[in-house]
Amino acid sequence: MNKKRCTAIVLAAGRGSRMESDVAKQYMLLCGKPLIWYALHAVEESSVIDDCILVTGAEDISYVEEEIVAKYVFSKVTAVVAGGKERYDSVYSGLQAAADSSGQSGAGSCAADRDGYIFIQDGARPFLTEDILERCYQTVQSDHACVAGMPVKDTIKLVDESGFARQTPDRNFMWQVQTPQVFDASLIISAYEKLMQEKERLLREGISITDDAMVVETFTDCKVRLVEGAYGNIKVTTPEDMVVAEALLKMQGGMVTL
Ligand code: C5P
Repeated sequence: MNKKRCTAIVLAAGRGSRMESDVAKQYMLLCGKPLIWYALHAVEESSVIDDCILVTGAEDISYVEEEIVAKYVFSKVTAVVAGGKERYDSVYSGLQAAADSSGQSGAGSCAADRDGYIFIQDGARPFLTEDILERCYQTVQSDHACVAGMPVKDTIKLVDESGFARQTPDRNFMWQVQTPQVFDASLIISAYEKLMQEKERLLREGISITDDAMVVETFTDCKVRLVEGAYGNIKVTTPEDMVVAEALLKMQGGMVTL
């Protein structure tokens, strides 16, 4: 059986305001390489992923093309495109570019006939591994939608606006969600088309869309399966996360060639 095309969309268009740094978070150096290098390296080396769309800030496109993609020879990157205000705007840009690079004219027009899989990856997660990509690839083939995550270790509280505990969900059923988030291309494209049509209403109602699984849960009937990621598959958001990421990289030693 022919392997279906697997396209990664790597997101690096966030402003990283929680990092309190002048340099955009995705280009800050982690053990001598820009943070974004790690996710792109995992994609480049992967036997699962065929090609990659890199989504970045509009003002950073030529810098990224020269100083990241060309410099480190990320040959699977077929396009560097501008993201948008929210993470979901950036994903939508990536989906449109993926549709363009597959020879279709736009995300909407290929919803019915696009036949591969889309792997959406936060560029701010440097610990993507081939094992995680493999597990997601196995699962998406049977279940159409899956996301990497791990069972939570702490008890989670739902709180009210004043900060009082409202509910304590059973911890045995709570997972923290990571990336990659992986879907049939046709499914994720049509879910995002619907999100874009409903976006204004969601904004008015104060509903924030924070991951791709939520888009599929909200706008399709497809259930999203959780796949084992790794506790070390952290997102680098605040300055403390850089310290943790550096320690994890050093601990892994030989796993990453620096
Ligand atoms: O904001 P958050 O921490 O959820 O960001 C996760 C990933 O999404 C980061 O890699 C960030 O660069 C990316 N992002 C984006 N466009 C935005 C916001 C976030 O590509 N507008």
